Amino acid sequence: MIFPFFFGLLLMTVSENDAAEKIQAFVIPHSHMDVGWVYTVQESMHAYASNVYSTVVEELTRVKNRKFIAVEQEFFRLWWTNVASDWHKKQVRQLLLEGRLEFIIGGQVMHDEAVTDVDDAILQLTEGHGFLYETFGVRPRFAWHVDPFGASATTPVLFALAGFDAHLISRIDYDLKDDMQKNKKLQFVWRGSPTLKEKQEIFTHTMDQFSYCTPSYIPFSNRSGFYWNGVALFPDPPKDGKYPNMSLPVTKETVELYAQTMVDNIRLRAQWFRSSHVLWPWGCDKQFYNASVQFSNMDVLMNYINTHSDQYGVTVQYATLKDYFQTLHQTNLSWDVRGNQDFLPYSTEPFQAWTGFYGSRNVLKGVARRASSLLYASESLFTRYHISYPDGPVQREWALSKLKALRWAVSEVQHHDGITGTESPKVADMYMEHLLQGMMGAEELLAAIFLLPQTLSNDIYDQIKNTPTTARTDSENVPEQHIFVYNPLAWNISTYVNVSVQYAMAVVLDDDGKAVPAQIQPSMESSTVYDLFFVVELGGLQYRKYTVQFPQSPCDTGSACGATHVAKVVKFNKTNVRQWKKTGRKLLPVLNECYKLMFDQETNLLHSITDRSKKIRVRVQQDFWEYKANGDVQSGPISDNYIFTANGSAVPAYKSVVMEIVPGKVISEIRQYFYREEEDANHTYSVVTRVPVGFKGRLSCFRLEQSYKVGPLEVNRETVFRTRTSLQNNRTLFTDNNGYQMMKRTYKGYANNTVARNYYPMVRVAYMEDESSRVVFLSERAHGVASLSQGQLEVMLHRRLWNNQEWNQGYNLTLNDSSVVRPVLWMMLGSPDSLSSIYQQEAVELQHRPVVMAIDQPQKLLNQRETFSGPSVHPVVLPQNLHMQSLSIPGWNYSPEHSSGGDEKSEVNFDRILLRITHLYEEGESPVLSQPTTINLKEVMQGIGKVSKVQECSLTGTWNISDLQRWNWKTDETMQKTDKSGFSGVTQDFNVTISPKEIRTFFIYF
Ligand SMILES: [Zn+2]
Repeated sequence: MIFPFFFGLLLMTVSENDAAEKIQAFVIPHSHMDVGWVYTVQESMHAYASNVYSTVVEELTRVKNRKFIAVEQEFFRLWWTNVASDWHKKQVRQLLLEGRLEFIIGGQVMHDEAVTDVDDAILQLTEGHGFLYETFGVRPRFAWHVDPFGASATTPVLFALAGFDAHLISRIDYDLKDDMQKNKKLQFVWRGSPTLKEKQEIFTHTMDQFSYCTPSYIPFSNRSGFYWNGVALFPDPPKDGKYPNMSLPVTKETVELYAQTMVDNIRLRAQWFRSSHVLWPWGCDKQFYNASVQFSNMDVLMNYINTHSDQYGVTVQYATLKDYFQTLHQTNLSWDVRGNQDFLPYSTEPFQAWTGFYGSRNVLKGVARRASSLLYASESLFTRYHISYPDGPVQREWALSKLKALRWAVSEVQHHDGITGTESPKVADMYMEHLLQGMMGAEELLAAIFLLPQTLSNDIYDQIKNTPTTARTDSENVPEQHIFVYNPLAWNISTYVNVSVQYAMAVVLDDDGKAVPAQIQPSMESSTVYDLFFVVELGGLQYRKYTVQFPQSPCDTGSACGATHVAKVVKFNKTNVRQWKKTGRKLLPVLNECYKLMFDQETNLLHSITDRSKKIRVRVQQDFWEYKANGDVQSGPISDNYIFTANGSAVPAYKSVVMEIVPGKVISEIRQYFYREEEDANHTYSVVTRVPVGFKGRLSCFRLEQSYKVGPLEVNRETVFRTRTSLQNNRTLFTDNNGYQMMKRTYKGYANNTVARNYYPMVRVAYMEDESSRVVFLSERAHGVASLSQGQLEVMLHRRLWNNQEWNQGYNLTLNDSSVVRPVLWMMLGSPDSLSSIYQQEAVELQHRPVVMAIDQPQKLLNQRETFSGPSVHPVVLPQNLHMQSLSIPGWNYSPEHSSGGDEKSEVNFDRILLRITHLYEEGESPVLSQPTTINLKEVMQGIGKVSKVQECSLTGTWNISDLQRWNWKTDETMQKTDKSGFSGVTQDFNVTISPKEIRTFFIYF
């Protein structure tokens, strides 16, 4: 996206450069094509995107020196599959061979960097790269992250791992960019990971103040700058080819004025860089849909400049990004090194802090992550199914089509106007529809696999036991329901799952027919619904079938019913804030093995938490607060879907609180309801805290689950959940970059807008600490987070905004989001030492909670019940510090012939399994878990099948790791790097050693 203001600086006159060397400008034709934002993908294809590729290919074919870079693969693929003619396809292959058409990034989208999860960033990149390599034999080597709102330090690491030679960013703080520009520091070598350091460093170019658009101000024209094709028209392209705002053509009369303007701009920019090479992006949003008029004007203009180059001191040439970076690389300059600091948050002006989008459209952010975890689970389940039954009844092409649809949808929403919540309502609906359709498909696939008859056993399954039923209620007339629970992680887990049922009593039997510990209680939502919690113990990648029986009469003690605890709800009096007197006198304890939580009956709020192992008590109060946003541009800075502007401090968002406690044997639940006004019949906010209490230490006792319900909000409200503690954190906060690594966030004071500029994205983790204690929050979706006072941490859970800014109004981008949101956080408290070896794994466990799928409705079974038959699949287990980040069948297949000829699709390759393993720890973070860890892939995978071959590859699977050679950019700290990948490799007998923070990708064959 681009705002229609800026660029006043061109008015500056440029003094004659005294450098003898001519400035060489690399004019890079490009079109920034948002996969979403204001218009849907379909509308965009129709209005301009499809024409971009058709006309660019035609125009490049016509004149030999023209070039173009293609960025977003989703649009390119839609064009390639549905629009391109055979002639176009042939030309594309030729242009790629000639290096005149260049794929940049190669991901499906240009992903957001602040609120995306690392797994999803990798997914969308892998998805695009697989297509490009299969179709063209092409592997992108350069990034072009021109529009994401701030830059994460995870991104350069991922691009290095994918084999890129250089990275490019643009949106960083305005004052920092000014500084870097003045001091010629826009280019550097970035070591994004504090642990991987120079092993995965990458040269990074920061775009100057003009960013990725051509200067749009032309002194002699009241139309736009170098955009001879004008601006795209929606919904239909104009029949006569006349678009709005077409620039004056380059003619005898105008050519000199154009040339002078362009040369001035090039010379101005040259002053900000260390070499005499200027990257001059030519394009902007939705450009080149009429490439003929674009190139025919620019050809003349560039020709004119080059024939007067002695006079101008400038030469110009069409270029791809590779042309520019290659030339720069050859200068052999030595570059500054940047450590692992990121560029978040991002402000464009003193009152324009782009920290609102961390919390915009919380529902979409949540669904995007749930879709991603469902995909993760479905991929591994299908992979193991396919290896066991290559010709089994679940048709593999059908299965792959379901997975591909969900891969596409999850990739699409990672776009920087997608998961950010900065799109128009119809585009948000589009993402949501694609995600939900994809999820339905994946659920069909899961159900198909779960429902296979267990008799389909082969030799791996010879250990399956046919245990007869051991526990059963007497009556044959008891309704029962079957529920599959799948653990998608390659770790053994022991946790509880929650299902809603219509009965007041339920007994849960596992697949051995044994009753499992369970708890049932009235739900918060409705008087006819009950929450059933039951304990599941599953090995890595293992699923089990549970039978839930609903006895119609009370159970006798000692019968199978005895394993289910019927929990009662204890209600407390409503308390009104204005009547609160002395707090801390009437405290109610809720205990488990880790904690003593105290709730204050005076306020109905949490009062303190004691870490029982360390005997440390921390005061903790939690409640909801609201920022009241300004929506009138006449009265001051506004908040919108991008920007958060705190209009004063937050205020408490409630006048009374009701509390209920449900003491249980599996979990104890504390329910708190917050009423906006004392007399309100319905609460606006609620939080349910679940304290695991039972199961003799086999449930993680340190994991306090909090589920929130927020909304609908009043208009122009931004709601935060505030945790106030006795910690002495000095307003220092730790937040994650994309769930991959932690960043220390020290509170900074500014002349203006301090609250908003101290907000950071939280993707999976945020914590604060002092010498003795740490309080950690883990999240299953992104939020904004800040520590604005001593010991305080607030999470922005929801935003509903409206404003009268013309630009926002015109594009329907005001964020009037009236939904109810239901995010979940896990809270943990303990010593910094003890939590620093736990939170990484816990964060992954929250992201990938067990898949719970009811495969039928409760019914009375007329026929004989089937025999129970034990867990149906064998576990796959990795050490605690290694996470199986992906196990999937990509399906694409590279054949060397593809780069030269024909369009025939290669056979889908079902035998090549992509396995990605990541080490969760930083160097030195944990004495034990931060160690390099050796595993034997054959042994790890034996629960699935017999591994016959392993090949290590680059992050997205397109390079054999031994063939990958990345450019080495000289730095002041350059050391001899012999092993370019930095990886230790796989031994003959399938051993591999994975070091801290490594992400290793393998193709394995069974
Ligand atoms: Zn954009």
